Amino acid sequence: MEIERPTDIAAALVALAETPDATVLAGGTDLMVEINFGHARPDRIVALRRVGELKELNGSIGSGVSWARLEQGPHRALAQAARTVGSPQIRAAGTIGGNLATASPAGDGLPFLAALDAEVEVRSATGSRLLRWDEFLTGPKQNALEPGELIHSVVLPEEIPVRQEFGKVGVRNAMVISAVMACVMRYDDGRTRVAVGSAGPTTLRARRAEEMMSAESSPSEAAMSEFQRIVSEEVKPITDHRSTESYRRHAAGVVARRLLERCLEAG
Ligand SMILES: Cc1cc2nc3c(=O)[nH]c(=O)nc-3n(C[C@H](O)[C@H](O)[C@H](O)COP(=O)(O)OP(=O)(O)OC[C@H]3O[C@@H](n4cnc5c(N)ncnc54)[C@H](O)[C@@H]3O)c2cc1C
Repeated sequence: MEIERPTDIAAALVALAETPDATVLAGGTDLMVEINFGHARPDRIVALRRVGELKELNGSIGSGVSWARLEQGPHRALAQAARTVGSPQIRAAGTIGGNLATASPAGDGLPFLAALDAEVEVRSATGSRLLRWDEFLTGPKQNALEPGELIHSVVLPEEIPVRQEFGKVGVRNAMVISAVMACVMRYDDGRTRVAVGSAGPTTLRARRAEEMMSAESSPSEAAMSEFQRIVSEEVKPITDHRSTESYRRHAAGVVARRLLERCLEAG
């Protein structure tokens, strides 16, 4: 196995242009599992860890920013999500770019991005593209990257609500892949966003529930129950080794409602 270790983005893109089928390595917390289980046997790796530009965290989030840094970052719901990823060792190595590229329905960073309608900037030696999160995530473990492209960063909108909450349901409190997780946001004008993970082929938005709750300036108990019911109805979960379709459906509604309650309590 040949390993290329570029130290800047230009060199990384040249390396990928020369061998477009090379495999990109960030923290290795997903890729090394694939290699260790014999599911991936890359001939050539382009390791991004030394590319400082990908670790920048200012308006946008560099693909190489680790969960450990996001735990301390400015976005409440993303920090909450980061805190639930794996163990301290996984959070020190794993990155948001790796989470996006893996495109697992259970990726804990994805509901935050979906709730904000974040965009993914991908780059190749010939240029760059901006893809909205739902253009980038094309299916379970599938993304829109073309050969020779890498994820440069995640671009967030200018307007980000202060009231934002992330929550995850799993069989344990730590080191657990979620049965269901959600991110809820509430803007000052009442607009409400609900993104749910592990409840469909990709992270999804509960748009009917959003529309219903966005019209409620001071939601009653009945409105909260209706919101919960619609979220449960809108998700598209399956039964697998982690949970059942019906439990996931129920839990998605309950989690979304609790997160919304927390947003509303925040004033
Ligand atoms: C024990 C354990 C616990 C875990 N717990 C959780 C959890 O609780 N929640 C969760 O969401 N995930 C969890 N994961 C999965 C993993 O840690 C995350 O998905 C992590 O964010 C992956 O990032 P990485 O940098 O390690 O990616 P890598 O393993 O380096 O790469 C993953 C994939 O992304 C591609 N890639 C990486 N960076 C780029 C880039 N910049 N451009 C293009 N392609 C790229 C790689 O080629 C590879 O296909 C866990 C993993 C382990 C081993």
